[in-house]
Amino acid sequence: MSEVFNFSAGPAVLPHEVLTRAADEMHDWHGSGMSVMEMSHRGPEFEAIIATAEADLRTLMAVPAGYKVLFLQGGAMLQFAMVPMNLMRERGSADYVDTGEWSRKAIAEAGKYGVVRVAASAADLGVAGVPPQPSWRCDPHAAYLHITSNETIGGVEFHWLPDTGAVPLVADASSHILSRPMDVARFGLIYAGAQKNIGPAGLTIVIIRDDLLGHAPPSTPMTLDYQAMADSGSMLNTPPTFAIYMAGLVFRWLLALGGLTEMERRNREKAALLYDLIDASDFYSNPVDPADRSLMNVPFRLVDDSLDGAFLAAAQEWQLLQLKGHRAVGGMRASIYNAMPLEGVRTLAAFMRDFERIYG
Ligand SMILES: *Cc1c(COP(=O)(O)O)cnc(C)c1O
Repeated sequence: MSEVFNFSAGPAVLPHEVLTRAADEMHDWHGSGMSVMEMSHRGPEFEAIIATAEADLRTLMAVPAGYKVLFLQGGAMLQFAMVPMNLMRERGSADYVDTGEWSRKAIAEAGKYGVVRVAASAADLGVAGVPPQPSWRCDPHAAYLHITSNETIGGVEFHWLPDTGAVPLVADASSHILSRPMDVARFGLIYAGAQKNIGPAGLTIVIIRDDLLGHAPPSTPMTLDYQAMADSGSMLNTPPTFAIYMAGLVFRWLLALGGLTEMERRNREKAALLYDLIDASDFYSNPVDPADRSLMNVPFRLVDDSLDGAFLAAAQEWQLLQLKGHRAVGGMRASIYNAMPLEGVRTLAAFMRDFERIYG
């Protein structure tokens, strides 16, 4: 197999060891004679797979008692609707902090279900980043306050948690869940699509505090009601069995590597390689306030965007794949999730220096 480094924002690179293990088990999971894809979700084999995956995720994230872990479908974007459907209740109003493209999509969707107040917006900052909490105008009666804890497109990450008092804090952690420890007890609800930093597409993880269950109006479809999904152990209907199995293998891989403290150490080292290079160069730039830069998604521009095509073509020759920035913002983006080895980031940095030497 040719060695490539894949910087896709998602679906994204998976750990080599995990793919090898899945390939070994593809036709015959643990002597069952069946592929995981062929098993009843109600059989003892899959019951063990989902129970182990949940237990390992709880260990990794140190999820406290009093929280449910749900394995859902529909992607993070369905959570843009499920969160207000389930949490807005009779109060009918929620606060959102706008730090970029994904925040704005979440805000637009929530507006279908109730009143959405934008408590703070990066648009008022004049620079990409997180508005400082003293500038937020929060409603103490809001049903919840929503943040996008890592903006995958803009490369903006919360490196601190807001104090929301009695208002439950809800986070879209799709692109940085498991990249470092998170104090789950500070949140009412955390959600994440799996295809960035966990596993294959088709699975969405929701971690929800028990008191936020059971408030969906009666018209809510069963599969979109957190309470119904929690009561059934995420198996009201057929869950995304293979994606849950793959996520479970990733959780095991993370535990074996030393858990999220070790991942944070590795992720900081990888991100620093790129940001240091970009900051030391007049050829590359990153628009984000250094205090709010993402450890997972590093967007950058070339000084002359007419060189973008040459950059991507040359990167391809170095086996560095999927570096094109999101269509909404252009430029480049290197997503350096948990499964991206340090070697991949070193190779990208060497390539960027080489390209600057030739074209700079
Ligand atoms: C990718 C992404 C989404 C959308 O996820 P889907 O699973 O495609 O619905 C939402 N929020 C963030 C922060 C993302 O990175």
